[in-house]
Amino acid sequence: MKRNPTAFLREEYEELVRQNLNWELHVLYGPNDVWANVDGKRTLMLGTNNYLNLANHPKLKEAAIKAIEKYGVGTGSDREIAGNMDIHVELEKRIAKWKGTEAALTFPTGFTVNSGLIPALVGKGDLIVSDELNHGSIIDGVRLSKADRAIYAHCDMADLERVLNEAEKHDPPYRRILIVTDGVFSMDGDIAPLDEIAKLGAEHGAMVYVDDAHGEGVLGENGRGIVSHFKLSHEDVHVDMGTFSKAIGVIGGHISGSQDLINFAYNKVRTWLLTASQIPAAAAATIAAIDLLESDPSIVKKLWDNTHYYKKEVESMGFDTGNTQTPIIPIITGDSKLAKDLAKMLLDMNIFTVPIVYPLVPREKARIRTQVNAAMTKEDLDYALDALEKAGKKLKII
Ligand SMILES: *Cc1c(COP(=O)(O)O)cnc(C)c1O
Repeated sequence: MKRNPTAFLREEYEELVRQNLNWELHVLYGPNDVWANVDGKRTLMLGTNNYLNLANHPKLKEAAIKAIEKYGVGTGSDREIAGNMDIHVELEKRIAKWKGTEAALTFPTGFTVNSGLIPALVGKGDLIVSDELNHGSIIDGVRLSKADRAIYAHCDMADLERVLNEAEKHDPPYRRILIVTDGVFSMDGDIAPLDEIAKLGAEHGAMVYVDDAHGEGVLGENGRGIVSHFKLSHEDVHVDMGTFSKAIGVIGGHISGSQDLINFAYNKVRTWLLTASQIPAAAAATIAAIDLLESDPSIVKKLWDNTHYYKKEVESMGFDTGNTQTPIIPIITGDSKLAKDLAKMLLDMNIFTVPIVYPLVPREKARIRTQVNAAMTKEDLDYALDALEKAGKKLKII
């Protein structure tokens, strides 16, 4: 019998639809703002990573427009060939200063940092030690490495210590050990105990790598991130990885750390070497965002004021928000159909959230992920809270 080589495409998609695990794409007609035009309707945006509302900020837009006028829209090349512009170098100096490190290096996205850097840092004869809830880009980086791997229970320091003690007994001894963790866990909003991780790392001679995607612009002095939040130094945390696609409001990944780390990375990492450099407009807008964060601490403070108010109200209604400590406030429904129904009901009331279902979270831990924004007014937050209460009662979640 002649086989149909593409029949699986439809079959697998239809299976996802049957299980309520498929994505339905919405369309924004305009900027991702507190109130955005989603699918043609004015909607309160409660489901983006644009925590500081910088994605449509006039200063960032102005910087991007100027950069386009000066440099054009594309770079025409990879960094190491003919695509290294002074705006990239300037951005890296700004990041290093902001983060308090010797040096920094930008990447096209955060995903390309994790998927490319991890397999460059560790390979055959090494061990990667990874939190069980780490982001998918870390998981892919781990999969691309030939190193052995050990997963520890989520934020469980006794389990991490057990893994590291076992690693010491490995014969032949491991050449290198890399501990890697999300800083803020993207689906739960809890914060990794990076101080304890760094301490255990130091005791066992391990490299420590933190993914600060949801911590930058949110945690620490002037939004410097998780290393600042715990008052650690980059002697304790060797790779401070982040992204400009979340609170910074633009796009692009980066690492901050020692000059040795940066020299190593731009010579060895395939997702840096084999891809085009960041567009100048993105680099310029990111510099403008860091300038704003450093000059105006009130933006981050407003984010936290909004977060505290909203979280307290959501929890007092009786919703399960898990262990969140940040502006990521999940509303855990358990069942994926219920998460989808809740998101749909909220959308009918002009509120945008996304249902988060398996495989992004375990099957029995479906949720909607709500995220607070610094530019929301008390009226906006009350609008959201009122709708959540109505929908939660109707669906018998509360
Ligand atoms: C979003 C995210 C990334 C990917 O960042 P991009 O720059 O959007 O590719 C990596 N790690 C974590 C923890 C994230 O939340």
